[in-house]
Amino acid sequence: LHAHFIQMKIEEQIYLDYDDVLLKPKRSELGSRQEVNLIREYHFKHSPRVLKGTGIIAANMSTIGNFNMAKMMAKYGMFAALHKFHELKDIINFYDNCNETEYSHTFYTVGINLEDYEKLEWLFTHFGDNMPNILIDCANAYSKKAVEFLKGIRKFYPFSIIMAGNIASSEMTQELLLSGADLVKIGIGPGRNCDTRIITGCGVPQLSAIIECADSAHGIPRGKICGDGGVKTIGDLCKSFAAGADFIMCGSLLAGTDLCEGEWVERDGKKYLVHYGMASKHAQLKYYGEMKEYRASEGEVTEIEYKGTTEDLLKEICGGLRSCCTYIGANSIKEIPKCATFIKVNRIK
Ligand code: 5GP
Repeated sequence: LHAHFIQMKIEEQIYLDYDDVLLKPKRSELGSRQEVNLIREYHFKHSPRVLKGTGIIAANMSTIGNFNMAKMMAKYGMFAALHKFHELKDIINFYDNCNETEYSHTFYTVGINLEDYEKLEWLFTHFGDNMPNILIDCANAYSKKAVEFLKGIRKFYPFSIIMAGNIASSEMTQELLLSGADLVKIGIGPGRNCDTRIITGCGVPQLSAIIECADSAHGIPRGKICGDGGVKTIGDLCKSFAAGADFIMCGSLLAGTDLCEGEWVERDGKKYLVHYGMASKHAQLKYYGEMKEYRASEGEVTEIEYKGTTEDLLKEICGGLRSCCTYIGANSIKEIPKCATFIKVNRIK
């Protein structure tokens, strides 16, 4: 008689999200917020380029990742990833006419298809060794196709800083770093307009994903990660840095500010931005004219009320980060993870 045992694989540890924790205030020697240094210097595993900035990146979503946003982000030591739907001539015009900070702070985004190779080749004929920094963005970078694409791009463009994603676990963080990424983008399912967890049942709560992947990346010399998605407040940015994120990508936090591009609608005297996930049916119909039958829509459309100018929000972000540093006794953003202690909470407010 054979007993059949089915062994269920289940990890008992509870994975946490931004809303499950707060940062514990600590005694501090800092005299005032002005003493806090928001700018840090980044050195990378593969690219010889050095970046300076706060580490916050505007997402390559079509309402957010535009040229004006990139310039404004650069003004505050922040970064941007351009969305994939710009014309190449406009991309060239942008890089040809921007200053050095804007140039080095703006990532050119591609997918992982043949046409993406061709677009990069085209840019290379124009820029040569001044090739812009590159974001290789695909919904699931666990795939062999994504890894092979990354290896190819690394070989062709040794000078560019290459960010690649998305993934959300330690072994894949190391695999992408060793395959040529300078910066691995972390996030499966945390995005505000993202339906992946609902449609596929897959994902990892973002705070724990960042803790795990940062630890894994920092075990490789100059390995870096970018937390992507799920930042709803400036406090979440602070928690993300505390968890070990070197960079943080934001979509909906910036959505609704004046530099967003796309459709604005007015209702009852209020103005709203139509903001949508890049894998939503809305985006697929808009950019590809159809929704492929084998694809589910893994994105949502939301309307976000006008929030004021992008510049005011960026100032507020800098203020919040400074204040966080003084609460936990960190002299700079770089010191936040070293100074931070998380407490698990039942509610954040
Ligand atoms: P947010 O800051 O708005 O919470 O998240 C922004 C991130 O959500 C983007 O950088 C991108 O990684 C992710 N994202 C954007 N659109 C979609 C989508 O349609 N589906 C999924 N799964 N993720 C999306």
